[in-house]
Amino acid sequence: MAEQPELTVQGWGPPGTRVAHVAEGGTLELTADKSLAKALPKAARKHLARELGWTPRHTPPVPVEQIELAPSRLPVPVRAELVTLLGLDNVRDDRESRLRRTGGKSYLDLVRRRSGDASDAPDAVLTPADTAETAALLQLCSRHGVVVVPFGGGTSVVGGLSGTDVDDRPVVVVDLSRMSGLVAVDVPSSLVTVGPGMRGPALEDALAEHDLTLGHVPQSWEFATLGGYAATRSAGQASTGVGRFDDLVASLTLATPSGVLEVGSPPASAAGPDLLGLALGSEGTLGVITELTVRVRPRPRVEEHEGWSFRSWAAGLAALQRLARHDLLPDVVRLSDPDETRANLLLSGGAGARALRGALRSRGHGGGCLLVVGWQGLPTLVRARQRAATSLLREDGGKRAGSRVGEAWVRHRFEGPYLRDRLLDHGLLVETLETAATWSALPTVYDAARRALREALAGPGKQPLVMTHLSHGYATGASLYLTVLADRDDELPLQQWLGAKRAATDALLAAGGTLTHHHAVGADHRPWLDREVGPLGVDVLRAVKASLDPEGICNPGVLLPS
Ligand SMILES: Cc1cc2nc3c(=O)[nH]c(=O)nc-3n(C[C@H](O)[C@H](O)[C@H](O)COP(=O)(O)OP(=O)(O)OC[C@H]3O[C@@H](n4cnc5c(N)ncnc54)[C@H](O)[C@@H]3O)c2cc1C
Repeated sequence: MAEQPELTVQGWGPPGTRVAHVAEGGTLELTADKSLAKALPKAARKHLARELGWTPRHTPPVPVEQIELAPSRLPVPVRAELVTLLGLDNVRDDRESRLRRTGGKSYLDLVRRRSGDASDAPDAVLTPADTAETAALLQLCSRHGVVVVPFGGGTSVVGGLSGTDVDDRPVVVVDLSRMSGLVAVDVPSSLVTVGPGMRGPALEDALAEHDLTLGHVPQSWEFATLGGYAATRSAGQASTGVGRFDDLVASLTLATPSGVLEVGSPPASAAGPDLLGLALGSEGTLGVITELTVRVRPRPRVEEHEGWSFRSWAAGLAALQRLARHDLLPDVVRLSDPDETRANLLLSGGAGARALRGALRSRGHGGGCLLVVGWQGLPTLVRARQRAATSLLREDGGKRAGSRVGEAWVRHRFEGPYLRDRLLDHGLLVETLETAATWSALPTVYDAARRALREALAGPGKQPLVMTHLSHGYATGASLYLTVLADRDDELPLQQWLGAKRAATDALLAAGGTLTHHHAVGADHRPWLDREVGPLGVDVLRAVKASLDPEGICNPGVLLPS
């Protein structure tokens, strides 16, 4: 197994170890950043305490040594067969290997782990070398009734790695870290074949040699894998321009208990329904993605980011809708509502925050909304698109806040998860949820989700902060991403969030939002899947699963309602 960082209970790794940032020349890099170890600025702390009715307090996670772990339930004869198949080094049931692959990074996952609960730990961790070994281990586990959970970067925020099983069978994690290489580069066709365990930074490094990029950069870029992106239909920060990850996959190999399926025929095919679409978003329920071929593009010659301010959320939405209608949406589009804009100003410092503060105040947008936009590509095209979008944004009341604001967003865009750890250390509930809606439904969905969260988390003297931004614009609509901060209920933290999440999900679905835009279904959203795809849709998915996974061993705790 590759060298591992120190094992901790922190959600996003020990503070200040590695963080993605943009170096000179626009290259994304990973370096150490000690400043992330810093606690919340004093002013921000005071402001949040007042606004939330929160009493800052020290609520550190239990030390790793105190996490409780039950003995492995993997039957000895099954373990022996797996060792024969994969080799001793690739069948691990030691404490550290199991703890490292326990759950994902949702608030619920983190709260459980921080309290010392690892009851969802796998019984063993397997690291196959290739498709053939993966297919063989799936058949073996199917024969012996052992549940298999594929594990990429472990960044699921919807309980995608929960490993729960109604029949309480032993659970093994299939860690894809040994299948993380670049397999082939077809420059003329702009196609690259990779192992599913490859992470974004490693792929971008490899592509740089060919002057190519994938351009898929989710906030979890440091840790998430390409197989994970495909299994969850992820969306990156520039996906308005580059496309969602499901748009970028040309073909893939899926190892299932029933055999190996090769799906997708680039450049295009009309040979019946698209089986690739079944594998994308399957969240490990049909098998393990063991290879992917993705579309890449020339590295952009220029990248421009800038900030704009709008008087109100409605004005910002109307402006983006008009850009969408004229096919002029920038590659990066993020419109923050007044609460998020205010919080950004409060939590961030430096030139970007000063420039934004100045732009909002001097132009009479004191309580306004921040829009960050970005373009990438050939200089002539970027300039032409930027000019056309600028004139529409101006016509719609937008005020340019300048490139320093855009660049500040670019520099700090990977820091949120580190800050989340600091907030959890001080008695806060911190979680996000997301949805998408058509342009016409978007305002109602926004109101409904916010209201539900605020009502569910309010209490005597307590009020949550719900911050929202629009990201990922389409011709037909956009996604909404909500971040919630509230005083944590130290007695019943899980129930507190589960109640709020239930209320918000019911409300946003009733208002016309989708169950998820890019986080996937996982364990957390599965009770609502039939609301989105209908009972017959769920039956179709079950039928496909029965064909590829007759014993139901592939990640049974996610996607399909129990
Ligand atoms: C701080 C933070 C920021 C995030 N930002 C974004 C964002 O900007 N955009 C976004 O879309 N998501 C985001 N996410 C969610 C998460 O990063 C994505 O869902 C990501 O695609 C998961 O990749 P992973 O490799 O970590 O998968 P994992 O978390 O390991 O797995 C996710 C699911 O996919 C399955 N799976 C993983 N690999 C395979 C495989 N090879 N074959 C079959 N099934 C597999 C797992 O069993 C699981 O159900 C964020 C998460 C965090 C914690």
